[in-house]
Parts: sequence; structure tokens; C-alpha cells
Amino acid sequence: MKESTTKKLLKERKLRITTVRNEILSIFNDRNYALSFYDLEKELKTKFDTATIYRTINTFVENNIIHQIPLESKTAYYALNSVLEEDENSRKEHIHFLCRICRRTYCLENVIIKDLKINKNFRLESLKIIAEGVCDNCGAIS
Ligand SMILES: [Zn+2]
Ligand SMILES: [Zn+2]
Repeated sequence: MKESTTKKLLKERKLRITTVRNEILSIFNDRNYALSFYDLEKELKTKFDTATIYRTINTFVENNIIHQIPLESKTAYYALNSVLEEDENSRKEHIHFLCRICRRTYCLENVIIKDLKINKNFRLESLKIIAEGVCDNCGAIS
């Protein structure tokens, strides 16, 4: 993501533009899979302290810039929200794909879950769908 793009996104969310926010945003944008706090820490520990990285992730989640992947793992993984999801009310649930070889998780934004018929009197609160298999990257190798 170009620096001008990350700055624009921060401005839209009325967030102050800081170096750490810019860098974390561009790391998320450069990957097409989900990242954990540890992944970010590994890349940024020479530049920013742990608390700053942690706080930035929380700010991004609160401001709908990234979302947490509903994995059953102890480590939380995050991915960038689709730019098309600006209107929160029209935000669509999408499924996630976990690759059993590289263990990376991808957002499948184009696989949209809709018209789900839930039993009468059942109230749906969240939907956690994880598809598992082999990603295009790993599939190309084997
Ligand atoms: Zn893979
Ligand atoms: Zn996702």
C-alpha cells in the first residue's frame, strides 16, 4: 500500500497519522493472509516497542480497519477489512480459508454468506466458518 493510501485510510477513520500506524497498515496490505501480533512484532521490533504494536492493533480493530479471524487457536490473527466494507451495516460475513501446509489463513472476501435460514426463534449472533485445505501458493509447489 502506498504511503498516500495508508494515510488516506487513517484520515477517513479520523485517526492521527503516525509512523507505526502507517507501517502496520502497509504490512497488512502487502500480505494476502492473516497476521498475528507476533508476525508484526518480528518485523517491527527494531523500530517500535511491543506495547506500541499491541495498542495499534487494538486501535485498528476498534476502528474497523482490521478484523480478528475466528480461529480456535490461542494466537489471534488479523486481516485487513475490505475497502468495500466501509459501510458497517452492509458489511458482509465472509469465510476464512486455513491452509494445512503453510498454516496461513486467508480471507475469502468473494465467498459471501447470505440468506442463511436459521430455525424459527433461534437468534444468530455470529458465524465462524473456516474452510481448510491447500492454498494456491502451496498447491503450486506440490
Ligand atoms: Zn499454503
Ligand atoms: Zn476475514
